[in-house]
Amino acid sequence: MKVRFWGTRGSIATPGPGTNHFGGNTSCVEVTTANGDLLIFDCGTGVHRLAAELMAKGKKPIHANILLGHTHWDHIQGFPFFVPAFIKGNSVAIYAPEGSRGSLQHVLAGQMEYTYFPIALNQLPATITYHDLTEGIHDIGGVRVAAQFLNHPAMTLGYRVEADGVAMVYLVDHEPFSDELWRAGAEPGRIESILHDGDRRHAHFMADADLVIHDAQYTPEEYPSKKTWGHSTYDYVVQIAAAAGVRQVALTHHDPGHDDHFVADIERKARALALERDGGLDVFCAHEGCELVLQPRSTLKPFVTAAPFQASVAQRRFRILVVDDQSDMRLLISHALEEDQYIVSEATNGPDALRMIDEHMPDLVVLDYKMTGMDGLAVVKTLRAEATTRTLPVLMLTGMTDEPSTRAGFEAGVTDYVTKPFSIPQLTARVRACLARTHRPQPHDGCGS
Ligand SMILES: [Zn+2]
Ligand SMILES: [Zn+2]
Repeated sequence: MKVRFWGTRGSIATPGPGTNHFGGNTSCVEVTTANGDLLIFDCGTGVHRLAAELMAKGKKPIHANILLGHTHWDHIQGFPFFVPAFIKGNSVAIYAPEGSRGSLQHVLAGQMEYTYFPIALNQLPATITYHDLTEGIHDIGGVRVAAQFLNHPAMTLGYRVEADGVAMVYLVDHEPFSDELWRAGAEPGRIESILHDGDRRHAHFMADADLVIHDAQYTPEEYPSKKTWGHSTYDYVVQIAAAAGVRQVALTHHDPGHDDHFVADIERKARALALERDGGLDVFCAHEGCELVLQPRSTLKPFVTAAPFQASVAQRRFRILVVDDQSDMRLLISHALEEDQYIVSEATNGPDALRMIDEHMPDLVVLDYKMTGMDGLAVVKTLRAEATTRTLPVLMLTGMTDEPSTRAGFEAGVTDYVTKPFSIPQLTARVRACLARTHRPQPHDGCGS
């Protein structure tokens, strides 16, 4: 498997003398399998030069599979300049996570409206197909690709490609689920010792990979003021990758404010940390033009997931109960969820929430931890003691980011634990991930999902 970096910058393209080495183009990685299958991860400005090279090869027709982690600008802005899409006979299959507001085609067409670009998406002569993905195992261009949600203020998927006897994992635009990575009292450096279910799932997803390409936009010093923006630090990546037995890590999505000296310094620090953690992990900062050839090995074990395929959740209107004793927070959340087309009801305290759940079972409960009277933890414990609500998804909101509170939440049986401050897009992405994971067709499904 051949991997080549065409864009390594996050947020906005940053060309200029200060970024000559690591590069100024936004996210784009080319993967070619031994069979000649072409997978392109993200379509930032870096895809422009990749397109030129594909055209220069003179190979006809071109069949490209474009896998978008999500549709923020820095991951799609290069698409209108992907020249193979302008040529009849070529085919472009585009994959991205199923969003909550409009299909993938609708979102991509938006940036090509005449206000922004002279050629509309539906005028492109190549055969273009659109695939809204959810979590699970997919066959993309004949290649086995697993997809799993990341933690970002938008629906965002990470991808794990298994082909040619190697595993390559692309995890770009992701932020740690928890401030504390390790559970107190457990041996650090092992996947089982990871405190938050989300971070543990993230580690499992990259386990035993030959190469992990991971967001590392911030330093640990910068991160506190950039929390909820959806990006990682090199120390989180190195620690989690070492625990997961990853062989090589490419740090990418470099911050536009970091020049080559700064990124080189991040690379030095990340390497030193990797040496401390585990001598086997090789880590480097990706630069434009960097090319890797992953050598096959016979020991590759395919990634398995407990739920290999989840049906689409886009067609169904879910019912969500929001429980919070603070009216401003409750209204803010309810309003955001209603905008995403959920049917929302509200409770102001624990006993009312339990009564409402008993009367009319929701699909998901968004529950505040600290409430006067019965707190969120007591509500979860009551729900988990009843057979009918044992698996009801509960997303807990809390200002308590410490290890004992997080652990108490998971031990009580919360499905996800979201710490304050959070942003609304981050919360709605986590709600949707929860629903996608737990949804099973139910008798009251009215919309034929
Ligand atoms: Zn990005
Ligand atoms: Zn993003």
